[in-house]
Amino acid sequence: MNKNSPTIKEKIKQVNHLLVDYFGIPFRPKKLPDPVDALIATILSQNTNDKNSYQAYLNLKQKYKNWNKLSDDSRAEIEKTIKVAGLGKQKSAAIKSFLTTLKNKSGGLDLQYIKKMADDDILNELTSIKGIGVKTASCVLLFSMDRNVCPVDTHVHRTLNRIGIVQTGSPDKTFKRINGNLPDKIAHQFHTNLIKLGREICKPSKPACSICPLLGVCAFKQKNLDIPQKIKTNSFQLLDSI
Ligand code: SF4
Repeated sequence: MNKNSPTIKEKIKQVNHLLVDYFGIPFRPKKLPDPVDALIATILSQNTNDKNSYQAYLNLKQKYKNWNKLSDDSRAEIEKTIKVAGLGKQKSAAIKSFLTTLKNKSGGLDLQYIKKMADDDILNELTSIKGIGVKTASCVLLFSMDRNVCPVDTHVHRTLNRIGIVQTGSPDKTFKRINGNLPDKIAHQFHTNLIKLGREICKPSKPACSICPLLGVCAFKQKNLDIPQKIKTNSFQLLDSI
């Protein structure tokens, strides 16, 4: 690397400023969600949109008075309740496995014990549970515990690679590359605004580069400079809404 070229941390800082100028500072509720709630909602959100995963989450909350009741129910019954979110079999199995492991480990359905742990220890603890990946565990860290950790989903992975902040082949590799290089206290705005960018402007096919706030700093070679017809905005963020 040329000694004058910006570090990854400087690039993140610059992109974050441009995104905040364009999208603003994202909403954050005063009361952060409980870690168990956040983890279950994140499992529900895999491979579906926020609207469907939110509905599945509400269905669970409505049917079961507490997570103990849910963990005592059959996997098939949970699958029926969360049908709207798709992948019901895998998601119901992951939720059951998480709650059973948690009960065996801590004697209850509570993740308060991880709050004293360091970020990496929490990631190791949560990902040691069958069905819990790095993205789900990092969502708990950011949304429930306000740690400066940026989860990486497909939107965050795609946009960071196009912009040129990372050159990686998977979301988990992108996660490793950017976390540890993250400026202080920016994880929530950086993560949320990158998702907004990926949903509204930097879509998988035909990114709307002509209106993108990152046009001047983005390294993507196949930019699309056509003027887009209409941009659909979408600010709903599941884990800031439960
Ligand atoms: S300029 Fe185009 S490719 Fe680059 S981030 Fe913006 S929309 Fe995506």
